[in-house]
Amino acid sequence: MAVDDFIKIRRELHQIPEIGFQEFKTQEYLLNNIHQLPQDYLSIHKWHTGLFVFVEGKVGEKTIAYRTDIDGLPITEETGYEFSSTREGYMHACGHDIHMTIALGALSQLVKNRPEDHVLFLFQPAEEGPGGAEPMLKSEIMQRYRPDMIFALHIDPKLPVGTVSSKPGLLFANTSELFIDFKGKGGHAAYPHETKDMIMAASAFNVQLQQIVSRMRDPLSPAVVTLGKMEAGTVQNIIAEHARVEGTIRTIKPDAMIVIKESIENLLKGIEVRYDCETSIDYGANYYMVHNDANYVGKFKTIIEDIVDYKEAPEAMTGEDFGYLLKEIPGFMFWLGVDSEYGLHNSQLKPDERAIDVGIKTVTETIYNI
Ligand SMILES: [Zn+2]
Ligand SMILES: [Zn+2]
Repeated sequence: MAVDDFIKIRRELHQIPEIGFQEFKTQEYLLNNIHQLPQDYLSIHKWHTGLFVFVEGKVGEKTIAYRTDIDGLPITEETGYEFSSTREGYMHACGHDIHMTIALGALSQLVKNRPEDHVLFLFQPAEEGPGGAEPMLKSEIMQRYRPDMIFALHIDPKLPVGTVSSKPGLLFANTSELFIDFKGKGGHAAYPHETKDMIMAASAFNVQLQQIVSRMRDPLSPAVVTLGKMEAGTVQNIIAEHARVEGTIRTIKPDAMIVIKESIENLLKGIEVRYDCETSIDYGANYYMVHNDANYVGKFKTIIEDIVDYKEAPEAMTGEDFGYLLKEIPGFMFWLGVDSEYGLHNSQLKPDERAIDVGIKTVTETIYNI
C-alpha cells in the first residue's frame, strides 16, 4: 500500500471517533482492513472493542508487542476538515486515528516481509478512560502470547515531522482523576444558622488541599494537585446543599500518589466534622507512570537514527494508560512529531499527515531490529 492509502485510512478513522469501550465501528473498520491482508501468518482475536493481532515470526525466539490506542474524545471538532468527525460532539483530538493508521501500516509491512520474531499488536480501547491497558494485560490472550517486550508511540504536536523523541526512565507521571461531592442541609439565605453551607465546605477544602502538596509531602518527590472545576448551589438566595469539585493528582513516584490520596481522605473527614456534611470521593481514571527501559531506549535510538531526527524528551506530568503495560513488560514509549499549532485534546488539533509514513518506518524498523 502507498502513502496515500494510509492517509485515506487515517481520514476514514478520523470520521468515526468513539469513546472508551464504545469503539464498535472502529473495531469493525480495523477488522475489515486487517482481513484484506494476506492471512497466512496472522491470528486475530477480538477483545471487547479492541483487538489482538498476532504475526507468527520465521524463528520466533521472542515476541515483540506493539500497542496502539483506538479511542476518541467527547470534544466537538473545530478543525474545518472536509473529513471532520461525523459523530456530533466526538473527535479524535488525541491523535489515536494516526496511531491506529501507523499500526495498520506496520502490520501490512510485516505480513509482506515476515519478521524473525513473533509480533503481537494490541489495538487497545479506552486509553482516555476508564482505562483499557490493565484489563488487556490481564486477559487470557495476553497470558497466552506473553510478549518479551512492548513499545508504543504518541503523537507530539510540538515536534516537527521527521523528529522522534524519548528518554530512559520516567516519561509520564502517575495520575489520578479526583471527583468530590459535598452534601449538607441547604436553606434560605437569610437563615444561615439553620443550614449547612456546602459552598463554605468546598471552599475550605480547596484552600486546605493546597497545603497537602506544599506541607505534607517530600519536596524532592514532585506532585501536582489541581482542581479544574467547581460547582455548587442553585440560585443567589438559597444556601447550597450540594457542591462538587473535580480535579487531578499527578506524582512522579507511585507511593506519593498513595500518600496524597490518604491525606485528601483525612482532610475530608475534618471537613465533614467542621461543616456537618457528608462527602464522597471518586478517583475516576488512574494511570500508572510510563517508565522506559533504558536498554531498549538505547537500542531504539541506534536503530532509528538514520531514518529520523532523535531528540531526548523531557519528563511530563501528563498520564498514559500504557504505563500499566510497562509495569509488567519491559519496553518504552516514544513521541512522534506531527507539528500542529494546536495541542492534544484541542478541538483544532491538526497533525501533519506526513508523520504517518515516518511513524510506519520507525515502528517497522524497530520491530525488525530490536
Ligand atoms: Zn489523550
Ligand atoms: Zn492519546
